Amino acid sequence: MKIYLAVPRGFCAGVTRAVGIVEAALRKFGAPVYVRHEVVHNRFVVDGLRERGAVFIEDLSEVPDGSVLIFSAHGVPESVRNEAKSRPLRVFDATCPLVTRVHAEVRACSRRDESVIMIGHAGHPEVEGTLGQYSSEKGVIRLVGTAADAETVEIPSPEGLHYVTQTTLSVTETNGIIEILKRRFPGIEGPYKDDICYATQNRQDAVRKIAAKVGVFLVVGSKNSSNSNRLRELATSMGCKAYLIDSAADIDGTWFWDVSAVGITAGASAPDLIVDGVVRRVAELTGGKVEEAGGVPETRSHFDLPRELQEQG
Ligand code: SF4
Repeated sequence: MKIYLAVPRGFCAGVTRAVGIVEAALRKFGAPVYVRHEVVHNRFVVDGLRERGAVFIEDLSEVPDGSVLIFSAHGVPESVRNEAKSRPLRVFDATCPLVTRVHAEVRACSRRDESVIMIGHAGHPEVEGTLGQYSSEKGVIRLVGTAADAETVEIPSPEGLHYVTQTTLSVTETNGIIEILKRRFPGIEGPYKDDICYATQNRQDAVRKIAAKVGVFLVVGSKNSSNSNRLRELATSMGCKAYLIDSAADIDGTWFWDVSAVGITAGASAPDLIVDGVVRRVAELTGGKVEEAGGVPETRSHFDLPRELQEQG
């Protein structure tokens, strides 16, 4: 039995920064620290921060005046940022800089009254945050989730039309949607550089390479983690039996009965400690030898904390 452990896997720079902001705020200001939405989509990370005094809320009305408030890594609509500004709150923004870059693209289109098509999944907080950057009354912003949506979306005046994407989508599926949009709206322009972030792309590339050699793929990540779900779907589409698991406790030994090789990866918000536990459990159950495979470790691994929190040291 072979166990292929994907490289890269687990925490990305945006998640490391977002978790670091909540930890530093707790150290500097003490509990409670309010966080709008789960700071990252991982049960263990969120439960750990909650135990240390983070309070996760969805609506700013739940935050008392004078509190510390942190926006999650997924970003917030402008209306939420403005509401927070209008209140006596100390606000820190844990939005991933790569999401902030997409926000800037949408705001620039909005200022020029140009319409935007956002490719993403309805209801995801990152999508709500990005849609909420658009305020032009002369243009429109429309959400497209599937190829079928791309075939039917209507844009009243498509001159100067742009598209942007959620950062954690399937690269293959998104390319298919973009092709349809380019056929329907020949003048449509996209971002200078892909909106799907480096962490999402690299983790999908590694899964693609390993999936060709294994019968079962385990993806460590929580059910509400977009990038983890895309990893599981990718492994499934390549013929693997793929399981999205929160931790080693979710593993069923019968999964490995008929296979000679297992792949393991982790979404961008899954902590190393949890991944290590999964690897140990699979090795115990199968007697397999662990080998790292896929790609190369990421070199871009750091986004700075806000200055006020860096001083914590
Ligand atoms: S998955 Fe990508 S966009 Fe999301 S926090 Fe990580 S680096 Fe940023």
